[in-house]
Amino acid sequence: MDEQLSIVLPAHNEQEVLAETYRRLTATCASLAERGLDYELVFVNDGSTDHTGAKLDELVAADHHVRVAHLTRNFGHQAAVTAGLSLARGDVVVIMDADLQDPPEVLPDLLDKWREDYQVVYAVRQARKEWFGKRLAYWVFYRLYAAIGELDMPLDSGDFCLLDRSAADLLNGLPERQRFVRGLRTWIGLNQTGVEYERSARQAGQPSYSFRSLVRLAMDGLVSFSTMPLRVVTRLGLIGVLASAGLGLYVVGVTIYEKVKGDDTTPRGWAFTACLVLLLSSVQLLSLGVIGEYLSRIFLEVKGRPTFLIGRVTERSADEGSGEGA
Ligand code: UDP
Ligand code: MG
Repeated sequence: MDEQLSIVLPAHNEQEVLAETYRRLTATCASLAERGLDYELVFVNDGSTDHTGAKLDELVAADHHVRVAHLTRNFGHQAAVTAGLSLARGDVVVIMDADLQDPPEVLPDLLDKWREDYQVVYAVRQARKEWFGKRLAYWVFYRLYAAIGELDMPLDSGDFCLLDRSAADLLNGLPERQRFVRGLRTWIGLNQTGVEYERSARQAGQPSYSFRSLVRLAMDGLVSFSTMPLRVVTRLGLIGVLASAGLGLYVVGVTIYEKVKGDDTTPRGWAFTACLVLLLSSVQLLSLGVIGEYLSRIFLEVKGRPTFLIGRVTERSADEGSGEGA
């Protein structure tokens, strides 16, 4: 029996680009099929409010390679990837965006590495075609992550990757619910390697990641793989205490000095007190904020809600045959 490749594609309001995504993927996969690799395209309709759902169902009707999971609402990119991964049946699974920012033409390179016995092959962005601010934000995030994360996550690799069945099973088995997929992927270990590629600009439509959701993703990534922020708080607290002690000594010293000189007429200390209060209270607020970041995630994990809910799956059974008379 042929080996099978599953391609997982999360899609949220991608109606403009879907047809082109399908066309390019099918072209690439057809050439792979000649080399004895069967394939399935697992689209995850992540609560789209446009015609994405209907367009995907049309693809299912026309092509037996396509399967679609419709989530009951918008659960977010990471949840959609998780959903797709749990449905993928292939011996090898590729995760990529549905907006063609991850070019399908890179697939053969990923598969070559897989054949060389790597279980995880992640795609590394060589260049981003996005505006400067966004590129800078990503650059900073990945460096910050490398500096404080307790995980050697490869720089500039997103969720675009290939997973062997063994790696996919391990990922599916992880109980964590706020999933930072690229972090978990690194965490599972096995033989991993990267393949460089050039990330294209979005083909059509609007990015659904707002600045806020990107910041939340970054926070999830940092907090779920690093306890450094917690430790920084402790250090900040220590420094604060030492600094206040030093300042206290200084105040006492100055007061004694002026008493001895008989000159204590200058009203003094207002600004100083204000500064001190400000310093300490800001350290406290900061610490509370960091603790809150962890607490909120513990809260979410403890509630034990699933990462996603699948409303329905549209697919054709294997014996139904293909629409194009294959
Ligand atoms: N996406 C999704 N659910 C969301 C947001 C995005 O499934 O809530 C999909 C989206 O359709 C795309 C991929 O995730 O295929 C990446 O999203 P986007 O292009 O908005 O992010 P960017 O490429 O700007 O990082
Ligand atoms: Mg995109």
